[in-house]
Amino acid sequence: MTALWQLSARQLARLVQSGEVSARELARTFLDRVDRLDPALRAFVDHRGERALADADAVDAALARGEPVGPLAGVPVAWKDNLVRRGEVTSAGSRMLASYRSPFTATALQRLEAAGAVLLGRTNMDEFGMGSSTENSAHGPTRNPWQPDCVPGGSSGGSAAAVAADLCPLAVGSDTGGSVRQPAALCGVVGLKPSYGRVSRSGLIAYASSLDCVGVLARTVDDAALWLRCTAGSDPGDPTSAAEALPEFAVEARPDLRGLRIGLPWELNGPGLADEIEAVLADARAQLRTLGAELVECSLPHVSVAVPTYYLLAMAEAASNLARYDGVRYGFRGAASGSCEAMTTASRSSGFGAEVQRRLLLGTFALSCGYQDEYYGKATQARERLREDFRRAFAGCDLLVSPTSPVPAFPLGSRIDDPLAMYLCDALTVPASLAGLPALSQPCGRTAAGLPVGLQWMAPPRREDLLLQAAHVFERHTDHHLPRALP
Ligand code: GLN
Repeated sequence: MTALWQLSARQLARLVQSGEVSARELARTFLDRVDRLDPALRAFVDHRGERALADADAVDAALARGEPVGPLAGVPVAWKDNLVRRGEVTSAGSRMLASYRSPFTATALQRLEAAGAVLLGRTNMDEFGMGSSTENSAHGPTRNPWQPDCVPGGSSGGSAAAVAADLCPLAVGSDTGGSVRQPAALCGVVGLKPSYGRVSRSGLIAYASSLDCVGVLARTVDDAALWLRCTAGSDPGDPTSAAEALPEFAVEARPDLRGLRIGLPWELNGPGLADEIEAVLADARAQLRTLGAELVECSLPHVSVAVPTYYLLAMAEAASNLARYDGVRYGFRGAASGSCEAMTTASRSSGFGAEVQRRLLLGTFALSCGYQDEYYGKATQARERLREDFRRAFAGCDLLVSPTSPVPAFPLGSRIDDPLAMYLCDALTVPASLAGLPALSQPCGRTAAGLPVGLQWMAPPRREDLLLQAAHVFERHTDHHLPRALP
């Protein structure tokens, strides 16, 4: 018999809606798994225990009164530690915010609760979203459920590990340059980064505002679509949120991939890939052909400058966004006496970890007087070229595919002292981020050592419908998403 924790969010909500299972029973089931498995994994930084059970009781009470409950009725959802919830701590993986309590709740979380979801707990992350391994966290690293000596990817590594270990069917993440897709790939789950502006950023602790997106980690493509339905839409709290509504679409609308032209940008499908990633991707491409897709070679000529462009923009925007953490307004204050400057210096030197400090230094340098045009301005131009590359590519095809990550999950500690090696983990995900495109990673096979490999899909602006439908066809006809990491 299938256990409750093996079911999708969609299936769990149906059981709650029909009264076969109570929301309390679901919350209890997943909290028990967290208690049993998370001490070794550390996917969560905190779970809400009794408070989650009380929220589940409220869903059950609403059902008992015959009130309508939402499409996520009783579904336990975890969220990344950079989305705020009123009255609760949000630390963004940083010592700087260790005791910060928000006066308001992030729109994405509000909308999930309005849809009936039960918020289970906060998941671990690289400090302020800066990293690709979840090792840059003040709470210590998270482990990969498939191989505990390996990283889960990052920065939403806690959310990806939580879903991969079936500690919850859905976990909210954020993706600035790949932080939902890359950990999804390394943990063997689905990761959706919607178009920039599709889901409100209100209540998401800012890293790089022109790139930040709220996304989700799920076990199935359909669950990712369900999450998007519940959270997407304009919001007065985020002026960049899109007014355009998400079109009505059924994820299972396509029987196969016939009639779709799928582009293979050669720059993302060969150079720099680990051999085992290449081999798995070759099989995935063959599968796409078998499903009726027409695969076409294409090019994104400016992708070679995507990583430096991304890091310049991200660090500059971070330097500006993180200027607010001055030791006065957000809790943490370093020990210093004398001047205001000494206090700020002490607070920022001991409140931020090494990687954040490195980026703030570089970002501040890039924005220093007289250099803006040379650095930030140039990067903005490079970004425009890349956008134009995507426009051209999409003139000849409907969707693009590539691997999500050039490497599978790597051993804990193996890249942490080499920032450049870490930054190169993002080579395949930052292009869609720079262009603001919707993108998704889904499991497409395994290495000889049993580590998951991810297939990345990229769609034209606002075409989440097409993205999710195509990925759903691949999922329906393959079984890469089925094996579970932990009993
Ligand atoms: N690894 C990238 C970085 O460190 C992406 C992180 C993210 O998307 N938040 O910036």
